[in-house]
Amino acid sequence: MPKLTFTFDNGPWPGATDAVLDFLAERSIKASFFVVGERIAAEGGRALAERAHSEGHYIANHTLTHGTPLGRDGGRERVQREIGETEKLIDGLAHPRKFFRPNGSGALGPHLLSPEAIAYLQEHAYTVITWNNVPGDWLAPHEDWYETALKDLEGADWTVLVLHDQHIARMLDLLARFCDELQARGIDIVQDFPASCTVMEKGRPTPAMDQLLPVEA
Ligand SMILES: [Zn+2]
Repeated sequence: MPKLTFTFDNGPWPGATDAVLDFLAERSIKASFFVVGERIAAEGGRALAERAHSEGHYIANHTLTHGTPLGRDGGRERVQREIGETEKLIDGLAHPRKFFRPNGSGALGPHLLSPEAIAYLQEHAYTVITWNNVPGDWLAPHEDWYETALKDLEGADWTVLVLHDQHIARMLDLLARFCDELQARGIDIVQDFPASCTVMEKGRPTPAMDQLLPVEA
């Protein structure tokens, strides 16, 4: 049976993440929230992450500032700040596998993590999660994510879908339709991640790490 894992990135956002959490609770869906440290530190951020955690969602590290990807500006000091500071901000909420997802505009490749970033994630035993379905809900017209996501489901045995609470909160009707469509297609909604999107497990790089390394000439 094909599977799909929901992930919500770049939050939390008061007024948006709450609505997404209400929706997920209503549908009994467990997801992962890849949070930005600065958003946790902002007013209302930590409380939303605490709520998500208490409702069974995974809280995961998605850098402190969501700035230049760590593969393009990833010296030791910046890596430590972007990843380490966020880990402190989600203290007590982070999943035991210490999930981290780099940012980089939806594309996979060496721009996501510098060698120093990879070394840091190994030393600190992170589990690094990528994606395979990024339908661009942050781009106008925002509603187009729906058709794009459906198209990319075709032939996929385990989809890791990236949505953004900030945007999807205004399109919960579409999210409802999407969930109905998953059910109609016999796609199981799960919370875990496939090996193909787990590039590091508790500090150990996996064969999937190839998607983030430069292609050898
Ligand atoms: Zn992001």
